[in-house]
Amino acid sequence: MSKWADGFFSVNKMGHVSVRPIEGQDLHIDIIDVIHSARSEGASLPLLIRFQDVISSRVRRLNQTFRKAIQESGYEGTYRSIFPIKVNQLQEVVAEVLEAGQEFNIGLECGSKAELLAMLPLVADETLLLCNGVKDRTMLTLMLNAQQIGQQVMPIIEKYSEFEQLMNLAEVRQMKPRLGVRLKLNTKGSGRWFESGGASSKFGLTIPELVQLIRTLENREMAGQLELLHFHLGSQIADIQVLRSAVREIMQVYADLMLRGMQIKYLDVGGGLGVNYGGDYDSPESSINYGLREYANVVVYTVKEICDERQVPMPHLLSESGRALTAHHSLLVVPVLGVHRPDSPYMAEFPAEPPAVVLRMTSVYSDAQSAEKMSMLLECYHDAQEIRQETEQMARLGYLSVEHMAQSDSLYWSICREVLRKLTAIGSIPVTAEQIELEKQLTDMYLGDFSVFHSIIDHWAIGQVFPVMPLHRLQDKPERRGQLVDLTCDSDGKVSQYVTSSGTSDCLPLHNFRQDESYYLGIFLVGAYQEILGDAHNLFGRVDEVHVYARAEEANGFWIETLLKGISVKEMLSQVQYFPNDLGRRMSEFIRRQINAGRIKPAEGTRILNNYTQRLGDTTYCDVSSNEPL
Ligand code: PLP
Repeated sequence: MSKWADGFFSVNKMGHVSVRPIEGQDLHIDIIDVIHSARSEGASLPLLIRFQDVISSRVRRLNQTFRKAIQESGYEGTYRSIFPIKVNQLQEVVAEVLEAGQEFNIGLECGSKAELLAMLPLVADETLLLCNGVKDRTMLTLMLNAQQIGQQVMPIIEKYSEFEQLMNLAEVRQMKPRLGVRLKLNTKGSGRWFESGGASSKFGLTIPELVQLIRTLENREMAGQLELLHFHLGSQIADIQVLRSAVREIMQVYADLMLRGMQIKYLDVGGGLGVNYGGDYDSPESSINYGLREYANVVVYTVKEICDERQVPMPHLLSESGRALTAHHSLLVVPVLGVHRPDSPYMAEFPAEPPAVVLRMTSVYSDAQSAEKMSMLLECYHDAQEIRQETEQMARLGYLSVEHMAQSDSLYWSICREVLRKLTAIGSIPVTAEQIELEKQLTDMYLGDFSVFHSIIDHWAIGQVFPVMPLHRLQDKPERRGQLVDLTCDSDGKVSQYVTSSGTSDCLPLHNFRQDESYYLGIFLVGAYQEILGDAHNLFGRVDEVHVYARAEEANGFWIETLLKGISVKEMLSQVQYFPNDLGRRMSEFIRRQINAGRIKPAEGTRILNNYTQRLGDTTYCDVSSNEPL
């Protein structure tokens, strides 16, 4: 947990995960209390919990860290963070970022027409709104209109043709538009999204295009309109040296332009400030080799150094950090529905007169029970494997009864469990291949009420690791090893990598599942990108969510400000052109025919129809609220 919790999460005395959403305040919220409260207010599981105060804590931490670096270095410009809304467009998330960022003069970034239209009415007079991405005439016109009414909206030119179009539109209006430019640097990004940077990246002007743009501006006496230089190395920069080198590269361009008489005000270092999801350093999409302080220092000190060297004024600094602001604030609560164990339990009753092959398995089992040394244990395992192959062969040829097959299988798994238990206790380093194989074979599958494709799509798509752990029972040592699988009928629908105290692993220590008790797992750090990228595989859709605020005066230290119901089955079906009225009518006609044919009584038919129509209003996930007959 210490690898990824970043001071927000810990385990309390009850053995529950708790969150400390406000930095500097000793207010801890028990996540199990939040689940109970949310359920009593009508929320269904799975449940997305947003801790709104975590967003404000992150906004403050980022801005204060930059301010500190500026103060300590004697930097002569300011810093503003710009929130790229593509990371999480939910209105309440953006509103929280803006509110927390007010004292830091935070800005926004949008990358499409829909994002621009959503943000234009929200930005205050002084809020900087940067527009990246592909811009057509309609978008450029919206931006010019915004500039006409005094909004601080700035198109960031990513393609030369956008600049030409902007100049034509501005000429018609007799305007001198403010603008910024994204540059294609030679420095390549690092980590999963490295292709967003570098000379072959999709966006940005080349140096010859920049020169052409500047000459055009100078010829029109509009040199002062170019206010901002920008680069973006891609999300989740894994290696800080890459950022340092990119800042150096763009700063030489900046210095040249300033010496030429341009008046660039802002240097925008883009997004990419990474989040430590807890993965090992060799999985760059899940871990980074720097912290927030180092990131801020690298930007501030590198820019200052070059400005000092080349005797040019220091620009105001901007960063478009998104992931780092929102990833921590939300977690998905996944109830476990059941467990599939790959092994068979020990059978106490054995059939009479076992054949020789089963007797050999019995004797290997007693050898394994008495074995202590690693070599003996490995021998037992190898023998059991060989005998198992023989029994399978005999079963295929019809020489083994079902009873004896069951006996042999049960003994085989008992040997495996015994051998693994003792090998683990010996703890040899390096771990033997047999132990690794046994661990794989004896991993349980915990069926979770969620969809990987909807809630953590980056895990499926690019192998990003998200921290997963039980939310309670943490005062007890987990005795099982498990993998979390989801509800989809897809073998990829599982969490295949976990953060553990000893590195990433393909299974997780979990508690024994008890059918009559809830067992909740949490998937953490899901607040950036996952919700909007997630898809509807098998028609599992948006989950219920609650927005939680910390408040010391409340009984458990929090209150639920909003409960948003997830998508219902009928809403989901309508998206793929199945409409509830039509489905209900067809179902009713079908049942009427069965009644008319005398296959079913009218009252029973009505009950079945009512149940069908009610289910259309359900969430798309399994109902874990009650076991009452329907
Ligand atoms: N700015 C631009 C131009 C982007 O394309 C992105 C996303 O990749 C971001 C900012 C946000 O990056 P991050 O969430 O890694 O900070």
